[in-house]
Amino acid sequence: MQDPRRIYVDVDDVLAQTGRMFLDVLVEQFGRSVAFDEIRSYHLGDSFRLQPAELTEFMRRAHLPEALGSIEPMPGAAAALGRWLRRGYQVFVVTGRPPATRQTTLGWLQRHAMPYSEFHFLDKYSEFYRDPNSTPEGVLCLADLPGLRFCLAVEDFPGTAEHLAGTVGVPVALFDRPWNREVEELGGKNGAPLVRCRGWAEIERRFPAP
Ligand SMILES: [Mg+2]
Repeated sequence: MQDPRRIYVDVDDVLAQTGRMFLDVLVEQFGRSVAFDEIRSYHLGDSFRLQPAELTEFMRRAHLPEALGSIEPMPGAAAALGRWLRRGYQVFVVTGRPPATRQTTLGWLQRHAMPYSEFHFLDKYSEFYRDPNSTPEGVLCLADLPGLRFCLAVEDFPGTAEHLAGTVGVPVALFDRPWNREVEELGGKNGAPLVRCRGWAEIERRFPAP
């Protein structure tokens, strides 16, 4: 029997409107107001004009359970995951959040009725574990991705999206966000397609049978 088809789905700014929460924290902590479309860089120190020490404190606050728990779900996400599961796909929810957020993240997924097959942490940014040999048990690293044989990935982070499409050869639905507008759509000769999608309805339309 053929293995089930497996889809990679990111959490932040794919299932969850995390960027909006960041803007709330920025106002509360620094009294600084930035428009969503001004978050042009994934490096929040640049987008929010924060000094390194300010950025550290900002990230600490933004990863507190109250902050992560307050994030609104992305419209259409839960329904789309449900449709994939009913059609026999496996849905792997994959996040670059630190593993300390496990309970908060699983609680959020449950509260917002996000259906999935498996949940995994992925060391996307090589921030938490600089030595790939020391990646802790239960956390995926980029080298694990080819073996998982995904048929589609939904991502917003330019680095991981380009790695998945260009290096691993997984078709990518790039969830359109202000910080990934520089990423070009890819397809054809070099690697798998990378297609910008403006929301869950477009993902399902552009990838009807991943
Ligand atoms: Mg993300």
